[in-house]
Amino acid sequence: MSLEQNYQNILSQLPQNVKLVAVSKTNPAFKIKELYDLGQKAFGENKVQELLEKQPVLPNDIEWHLIGHLQTNKVKYIASFISMIESIDSEKLLKEVDKEAAKNNRKINILLQVKIAKEDTKFGLTTNEAKDIFSQYLAGNFPNVEIKGLMGMASFVDDETQIREEFSILKNLFDELSQLKPLKTLSMGMSGDFPIAIESGSNSVRVGSAIFGERNYV
Ligand SMILES: *Cc1c(COP(=O)(O)O)cnc(C)c1O
Repeated sequence: MSLEQNYQNILSQLPQNVKLVAVSKTNPAFKIKELYDLGQKAFGENKVQELLEKQPVLPNDIEWHLIGHLQTNKVKYIASFISMIESIDSEKLLKEVDKEAAKNNRKINILLQVKIAKEDTKFGLTTNEAKDIFSQYLAGNFPNVEIKGLMGMASFVDDETQIREEFSILKNLFDELSQLKPLKTLSMGMSGDFPIAIESGSNSVRVGSAIFGERNYV
């Protein structure tokens, strides 16, 4: 299937309220431009270095999302232009983003990444850490960031029941925090599990290989 066919195929499966972030990691800039020309504006990258190579050579109305683990010493390189950092996985990182946002005279939109997978390999906050950070935020901490919502990844398993359980942990936390202050974005679902994620309440999916084709490496 062509890029356009893949893209239309994914779009046709997304309800109107669900945003698509096209995960372009490992794909060259010209491929991103191809998808951009088909109308896609939000792209996700997981490595700062790769993002810094692509961003200057692509249209500047692209909405870049950082979706991978971010080291604090690299925040400064993306702080001027990043649209959303989806992968805030520690308070230390959030502090750094807040500091760099202030330096750039802007607010930076972020999601708190919560570890919902049973697998022990993934980055992310515990639900309690996320609640604690959110209450600090409501009390006025991190004034240069805008906490827009939550992001999470389910385990890479075939067991649909397990995937649903993991997504429901995040949806419940999203609802709980939204009572304190309405949140906008619940980012969950990738190529392999986005239909389940949407059924579980996701309103933002991060889809890579189902659009761009399989990657050689992650
Ligand atoms: C790579 C990646 C995706 C997209 O994965 P696909 O299976 O290619 O759709 C989504 N979210 C994160 C955090 C990723 O690292």
